[in-house]
Amino acid sequence: MSSPIAFDYPQQNAAGATCTAQAWAKTPPQLHGTEKAAVIARIKQLLVEKDATLVAHYYVDGDIQDLALSTGGYVADSLEMARFGKNHAAKNLIVAGVRFMGETAKILSPEKRVFMPDLDATCSLDLGCDASNFAKFRALHPDRTVVVYANTSAAVKAQADWMVTSSCALAIVHQLKVEGKKILWAPDRHLGRYIQDQTGADMLLWNGACIVHDEFKAVELEILKAAHPNAMILVHPESPQAVVDLADVVGSTSAMIKAVVEGSATEYIVATDKGILHRMQQLAPNKKLIEAPTAGNSATCKSCAHCPWMAMNGLQGILDCLENASGEIFIEEPIRVEALGCIERMLDFTKNHPDLLAKAQHGFVKNIGAA
Ligand code: SF4
Repeated sequence: MSSPIAFDYPQQNAAGATCTAQAWAKTPPQLHGTEKAAVIARIKQLLVEKDATLVAHYYVDGDIQDLALSTGGYVADSLEMARFGKNHAAKNLIVAGVRFMGETAKILSPEKRVFMPDLDATCSLDLGCDASNFAKFRALHPDRTVVVYANTSAAVKAQADWMVTSSCALAIVHQLKVEGKKILWAPDRHLGRYIQDQTGADMLLWNGACIVHDEFKAVELEILKAAHPNAMILVHPESPQAVVDLADVVGSTSAMIKAVVEGSATEYIVATDKGILHRMQQLAPNKKLIEAPTAGNSATCKSCAHCPWMAMNGLQGILDCLENASGEIFIEEPIRVEALGCIERMLDFTKNHPDLLAKAQHGFVKNIGAA
């Protein structure tokens, strides 16, 4: 069952401050040797002195993920990052990820100061769904329940009934369908179509996409699979339908990691940002992990399986947050209060309905049962 795509957005201006070329240009240099050790030692010291904790996404640099885990912070998907930041006692949060993750932390914890290594680290889904156009889309469909993906600005969340992440979208949309609700979905068209296919819900989709997942190629994936016939294919549902159709497991970053850790296969082809391989390999050291193919470096892809905005996070940026209070997130209070409702609704749902989440997760997984 296919979903109508009811609203389009103009292409972002490639000369804009947040285009992928500029993001790659701002990627910080890798630190090495004694310089890297000194920066890490200083960050560890300042995290304690400033009562701060580091929360990192699976897609950021492996050194940052290791630093978060070794200092009592957290490495997770966006749902668990939000929950951890809200519940942690630290007065200051350093969020290594992209802008909407820092904003979500601030919305949930206004009493905390939230910092990010580079405030220009954004997301193509967020960029492609500006608040004023989204308001027009909503105005056309006042009868629909508004469900937005986490990858949106605070100003878009302020217009939503529900926020979801890829970990809980299926369960929440399924529940809304049971309640007879029609849904207006934004911004990822691939995830929206996948959820619509799985639940049969009546969904109108915004026409956004993640530039990383959008570039996985089904034809190339089939060739890779032929070379690794026993490999299990894991696909994030932000990927195009033809890629999802080849998957053994379709799921969020957390679900993909779980599938590798618990799976009986020895080889896994992974269709999501390659930053996830760092944590995945740590948790499943004996499994062989293979990057799913895109158009290829030097070809047409803008990301080649790595998000340019996630790549903007560096150790020096974290140190700048702690030493100079740089990269602080501020959100106007009326917007924050408006945006809070849809996030709290999601957190309450996921806390109170683990059974529905587990059941829905079953729908993300093909061939191997629950993951
Ligand atoms: S990987 Fe895709 S969805 Fe995630 S932040 Fe980058 S552009 Fe956005």
